[in-house]
Parts: sequence; structure tokens; C-alpha cells
Amino acid sequence: MNNKYKIMLVEDEKNILAFVSTLLETAGYTVISAQTCSEGKMMFSSHNPDLIILDLGLPDGDGISLLTYIRKSSYIPIIVLSARTDESDKVDALDKGANDYITKPFGSAELVARVRSALRTRHYSDESSDFTNSIFTLGDMEIDYDARRITISGTEIMLTQTEYNIIALLSQYSGKVMTYSAIINAIWGYNDEGSRKKLQVNMANIRKKLGAVPGKQSYIINKLGVGYKMNI
Ligand code: CA
Repeated sequence: MNNKYKIMLVEDEKNILAFVSTLLETAGYTVISAQTCSEGKMMFSSHNPDLIILDLGLPDGDGISLLTYIRKSSYIPIIVLSARTDESDKVDALDKGANDYITKPFGSAELVARVRSALRTRHYSDESSDFTNSIFTLGDMEIDYDARRITISGTEIMLTQTEYNIIALLSQYSGKVMTYSAIINAIWGYNDEGSRKKLQVNMANIRKKLGAVPGKQSYIINKLGVGYKMNI
């Protein structure tokens, strides 16, 4: 019986493939690998991995097309690993359903930590667990979805409807970076010129109310230029 997590690595650069495979195997994971989009598609359906690490520049196409293909049928955590450093590329990958984004070159410890975090948060983003458990906890914070109420160490936090909706949304996708436009569309249903500012104002109030202290771990992390993530 093998109960190790199985990670599928889609990467065409042989030295990176070898390096990441060794790194993950040393960290206790089983690694399978594919070097093209089409091989990735095949291995995904035949091997049922627990997590995917995906390069974007592949010989037979863009990794984004594989990401889009997999997201049609699965909530498996996908970490994009790419040499592209443009914010727009990150935003695009996250909007299309990537859970996280790592830019090459990257540190080994960082990669392993991101993998661990994505695997840990997996059950929260499964469709099946969507709000079925009506209490969400993160550290001292508790969200009661039925009562639309948030407490920290048992004390209720007074929030506007919008502030509550934003926190509930981020908690639903905890561990995943949500882009500004994904949040805006989910909360307001439209995205116009003033939306980003409106989101920033709400987030500033939320962070204040949740007692964010500079330098201390906070419930919500701002990924500058990209979006927000509920930290777990
Ligand atoms: Ca490549």
C-alpha cells in the first residue's frame, strides 16, 4: 500500500525536471513526469495524481491550455512553474484556475513549502466540500456561514455585508491566490474602472477589523499586483 502523495511534473527542460523530481522524492513524494502537453493530458487521466506542477513553455503548446483542459474536470491543485515574470502572466494563470505560481529561478525550500501548502488546502476547494461544513476555522478566526458571522477568539467582528462576502469568498478558496478581478467579479458581478479602488478600500477595512499587525502573520495576504490569499 502506497500512501505517498503523487505529484505530476510537466516540464520539458531535462535539468529542471531532474532537479525538481529529486527534490520532491527526497521530501517524500512520488513523482511522475511528462514533457509535453499531450503527454500531460494522458498521464493526468491514467495516473490520477494529487497535485500538478506545470511549466508554461512546452514543446507542443502553452501549459495554460493543459491547465484549462484539466480544470474542466478537476479541482486538483496546480502550481505553475514558469520563467515568465510578467504580472499579467501570473494573473492569467491564476484566473484560469492555477492554485499558485512560482517564478524560475526558485528556491528548493520554497517549492517544497508551496507543494505542502497546496496539498494541505486541497479539500477546501473540492466542489463537494463547498460550504457543506458550515463552520470554517483559521487560527483564532471562525466563520459561521449559516449565521454570516465571523469571530476572533470568540469575539464577533462587526462587518459590512460586502466585507463579510469578501472574507467568506477568500475562505472558500483558502490557500489559493485569488486575483483582483476574480474577487471583484464574484462580489460585485461586474468590473469597472472604480472596482479595484473599491476592493482596496474594503480590504483595508477588513485587515484593520481582523487586527492585522505588521510583521505578524495575518489571515489575509496581499500578493502585490496580483490578488489576495487567505493564509493557511
Ligand atoms: Ca519549458
